Amino acid sequence: MRKPFIAGNWKMNMTAESGAALIKELTPLVKDADCDVALCVPAILIPAMTKAAEGTNIAIGAENMHWEAKGAYTGEISADMLKEYGVKYVIIGHSERRQYFGETDETVNKRTKAVLAAGMTPIMCVGETLDERENGVTEKILSRQLTVDLEGVEDVTKVVIAYEPVWAIGTGRTATNEQAQETIAYIRKKIGELFCPKCAEKVIIQYGGSMNAANCKGLMAQPDIDGGLIGSASLKKEFAQIVNYNKYWEN
Ligand code: PEP
Repeated sequence: MRKPFIAGNWKMNMTAESGAALIKELTPLVKDADCDVALCVPAILIPAMTKAAEGTNIAIGAENMHWEAKGAYTGEISADMLKEYGVKYVIIGHSERRQYFGETDETVNKRTKAVLAAGMTPIMCVGETLDERENGVTEKILSRQLTVDLEGVEDVTKVVIAYEPVWAIGTGRTATNEQAQETIAYIRKKIGELFCPKCAEKVIIQYGGSMNAANCKGLMAQPDIDGGLIGSASLKKEFAQIVNYNKYWEN
């Protein structure tokens, strides 16, 4: 019932030239994917990557967006600017934005609602730090993030949630299949409480954190895991193997 969704997050990597070359390489490899596929790229690369991905099944997404429609917000990007290039997805509240750029649950909430109001899909990131996991407060943290980040959202089924344990991002340390499944099942239950259980069943929830060609099939086999948000492995051909997680079972 939920269509799997694999998205890459290029972060501050790639150039127009290397990005277009990667999209050209990925195109034939992902064309028969059974899941939705997206690459979220730095804002300045959006026009060139949109062109590179034209006519393919790779959607281009953004890595952030401001909640105001326009104005004196130096360095920020608006919904109209993204929509002009056909952007479909916007990553919101990535832990790197929370950690290094002062993003809070309140600003994540404003950005998420603005993306929805503009008719795009937010990929809203939540997740606990290592300290929080070790202190047994993972569910408490996720509960707070989901409650505040989704406050006032009218249709939660239009939000993609990315569960990204901070300790697994860019560290090579992936959550076990069981940890990821257990935590994502909790997220679904919490969304059910905040909205309705039927809506929660429809929400796409991705796992993110050192997901790669070797561990993707185990993670994707979990009943509540509907996809992945992929950092490092989205910068190379390996991304195609993750997208084809259900076809490369011998890996
Ligand atoms: C991410 O940045 O969203 C991410 C999951 O990164 P990585 O796959 O490199 O851990």
